[in-house]
Amino acid sequence: MNLFDVYSLFDVTPVRARGCRIWDDAGQEYLDLYGGHAVISIGHSHPHYVQALTEQLGRIGFYSNSVRNPLQEELASRIGKISGYGDYSLFLDNSGAESNENALKLASFHTGRDRVIAFHKSFHGRTSGAVAVTDNPAIVSPFNAVHKVSFCDLNDAESVEKELAKGGVAAVIVEGIQGCGGINLPTDEFMQALRTLCTKYGAVLVLDEVQSGYGRTGRFFAHQWNGIRPDIITMGKGIANGFPCGGILISPEFKATKGMLGTTFGGNYLAMAAALAVLDVIEDEKLIDNAYAVGSYLKEQLSGKPRLADVRGRGLMLGLEFGEDIAPIRRKLLFEKHIFTGVAGKNMIRLLAPLCLSMDDAKTFITSFEEVLNEA
Ligand code: PLP
Repeated sequence: MNLFDVYSLFDVTPVRARGCRIWDDAGQEYLDLYGGHAVISIGHSHPHYVQALTEQLGRIGFYSNSVRNPLQEELASRIGKISGYGDYSLFLDNSGAESNENALKLASFHTGRDRVIAFHKSFHGRTSGAVAVTDNPAIVSPFNAVHKVSFCDLNDAESVEKELAKGGVAAVIVEGIQGCGGINLPTDEFMQALRTLCTKYGAVLVLDEVQSGYGRTGRFFAHQWNGIRPDIITMGKGIANGFPCGGILISPEFKATKGMLGTTFGGNYLAMAAALAVLDVIEDEKLIDNAYAVGSYLKEQLSGKPRLADVRGRGLMLGLEFGEDIAPIRRKLLFEKHIFTGVAGKNMIRLLAPLCLSMDDAKTFITSFEEVLNEA
């Protein structure tokens, strides 16, 4: 049987990884500045993480959500403390798309409404419910018209108010920083206006922190730079360092009823052991501060380099924008300098390194990047 051929693959086969380094099947070492799409938060195969997962598997790997799971309670309490959202509740699922679907579902239960406002260039996942709030024609199928969605421009609060005033809006969903759409930052004023408008019109403010959250920008959630508190926050990617896991934080204004949300695998023991180990390492190694320090250094050093039109982002969520197709630059970085990077569209290299990236690794990248830019 063949694999369903939906991914453009580089001809590299990783077989081993540790920290910010990956080795392929020929023994070649790579520097990882992409973290499997922002998933590797604490670095690959951290010994504490490996031990926690291994020990948990030896105790109990899975049982259903029909009985108490103390690890879920421990995780809720730990996320509450580190994020400053201790008064919110946690619902656990398996991925970013699922978290966004659950958030929108909860918003429509709560308000009794069915409209959603989302933003151009946003990305919230590939499932039918999550992709419905994305306006990229390349990934939206006819079946996706499951919500009534209106799209506005990021940072245009006036157009959001016009849509809200039409009535029937259950939720406004916005990314902490737009990732796949090109590292676009919402302004403080815009986020504060969204908060005020959602309260005024009785709509739920959903913050998608799947890519921008979990310490990546130097705060636990990116929206904490903007000085707002949303009603629901969605999480995924870095929460369990590669073990599939997602979740949503729900404000105390929502009332849970039995059966309202549910999942088979969400919050399973292995995912919980992984997520708890991730928080241990984030705290012990002060990775949120590190992400901010190393990311700020990268941004400062890369800004103004020839051929670079813009460097955008916060912490270790950075977009390097060019006025040209970046495919040849990215290939050279991978095959000649052995550095993994990501993209956002045709003109942007996206860096989503593990939060443990060191200053030395950042310097290695800068030197290699300059060499590639001078050669190409
Ligand atoms: N939301 C954002 C902001 C994302 O960047 C992504 C994935 O890239 C998702 C949601 C979907 O997450 P998942 O692929 O885990 O479903």
